[in-house]
Amino acid sequence: MKCPFCNLEESKVLDKRATENAVAVRRRRECPGCEKRYTTYERIEETQMIIVKKDGKKETFDRNKLLKGIRIACEKRGISDQRIEKIVDGLELKLKNYKQSEINSKILGNWVMAVLKKVDKVAYIRFASVYKEFTDIEELRKEVKKLITK
Ligand SMILES: [Zn+2]
Repeated sequence: MKCPFCNLEESKVLDKRATENAVAVRRRRECPGCEKRYTTYERIEETQMIIVKKDGKKETFDRNKLLKGIRIACEKRGISDQRIEKIVDGLELKLKNYKQSEINSKILGNWVMAVLKKVDKVAYIRFASVYKEFTDIEELRKEVKKLITK
């Protein structure tokens, strides 16, 4: 923490307390150089990602929604809920590290498919059939064939 007055890169914390709604921690600091006092706020970072859908509509990233979609795809495939949570954790981390604040739903969908492909082929096909919106059985057949011949 740099002192806003003299830029000294040290500070002494005088007191620390959570703000009213506890979304931030307030710290009262004193600069050991110029002895001026100032306040800092530390906030917990949430995944604030905007998902841009195919029709251009935007919505904020919803972990539960993603979790639900993956759970449905993995239904009765013997994949533990713990494993599914871990998959979602990984995807969320990837989102956090994404270079932009908006992401096309197609990219996120591709990430999910890439993971599911490794975890369970049936779960992958289920997810892909919803995501890619296979319009006919031929498209689905091609996708399954790709999986089998690999
Ligand atoms: Zn200072």
